Amino acid sequence: MKPTKSRPRQFLSVTAILLCSLIVLQAMQMIYQTVKESSRKHDTNNCVRSVLGYTFDGVFAQKVAEGEIERVKESTAAVTDRASRLLPNCSDIQLKLEGKNVQVNTSNITNFDLKKELEYLLQAGGLYSPEDCEPPDKTAIIIPYRDRMNNLLTLLRNLVPILVRQRIHFRIFVVEQTSEYPFNRCLLFNVGFVESMKVDNFTCVILHDVDLIPRRYDNLYQCHPQRPRHFVRDRSNKEIRGLPYRGFIGGVLAMRRWQVEKINGCSNMYYGWGKEDDDLYKRLCAVMLKPVRYDNPALGEYIALGHSKQQKNKLRNVMLRGAKIRMAEDGLSSLSYTRVNFLERELYTWLLVRVPPPPPPRRPRARFH
Ligand code: UDP
Ligand code: MN
Repeated sequence: MKPTKSRPRQFLSVTAILLCSLIVLQAMQMIYQTVKESSRKHDTNNCVRSVLGYTFDGVFAQKVAEGEIERVKESTAAVTDRASRLLPNCSDIQLKLEGKNVQVNTSNITNFDLKKELEYLLQAGGLYSPEDCEPPDKTAIIIPYRDRMNNLLTLLRNLVPILVRQRIHFRIFVVEQTSEYPFNRCLLFNVGFVESMKVDNFTCVILHDVDLIPRRYDNLYQCHPQRPRHFVRDRSNKEIRGLPYRGFIGGVLAMRRWQVEKINGCSNMYYGWGKEDDDLYKRLCAVMLKPVRYDNPALGEYIALGHSKQQKNKLRNVMLRGAKIRMAEDGLSSLSYTRVNFLERELYTWLLVRVPPPPPPRRPRARFH
């Protein structure tokens, strides 16, 4: 007869098996938790990176760009330290600009000649700060840009002396998009906004098309205290005069930093021509920040420079319909781009960025017979 195990021994072995499985289970759970935690951390890092808006090309590029930003920040601080000299407020100074028409010069100029022409006015990176008064704002002029060098040179040639006369503290940012995808003006504005704030605490940002030249010295490039300000009322060399429609805010628009933050910046989703400025208008109206213009319509006269036409964005009308709904999650909060270059050039601070691919084209509607 087989000897049967005694009851206490049986109990002991069952308990031992149970204990072992418990330990194994516990260990597995710990491993699972650790893996989960580390992947969560990884996600958060990615998330932070995408909120801050960078994915870098490589460690080296990152170091160079970071170093450059730090250097620019320090040199800017040195310039603006003058505030401690108790200068009068620039707004209190009589600017004597009234009625002065700008002699707009649209003849071709080379980069080399323009540098010579403006070197007495500008500091590296397209920075200017008045010597004799303290300006109420620090202004970032953000120019979304690609492949329009003649326009850019003509704009700088005419705009810089105007802003200097107006005693505006400004730095010019040219935000260039690489060549892969259709142009995304609004996303480039967001990039300019985020990157400019790393260099200085700008209180006013002006989104400026590269092809519009103001015609009046008294068209003051200043942010309104409460509302955004739109400047372009009339492209006086064009056949169709005046505003194209009442809610038009394209061309040149000044916003305070808090206003841009309040509307989550501009939409990132408009690739190609059209309606991204109307989307911005909807955002501003949604938070009661309808833009204002100067009372005198003559101040809003601009000259429009010639250029080749962009491809129209086929999704523009669909996008515009969803503008308010998307506002909370499409903008600064979802901004993502690769900063390919950041450099202080003589006439402007240059940023070259790669943007994410555009949304897929809409499927054609199904036809029912
Ligand atoms: N832009 C650019 N390169 C392009 C397309 C657009 O630099 O290939 C910039 C430029 O600042 C321009 C603005 O985006 O002024 C608006 O685009 P565009 O001039 O094509 O539109 P428009 O206002 O003339 O209809
Ligand atoms: Mn244009």
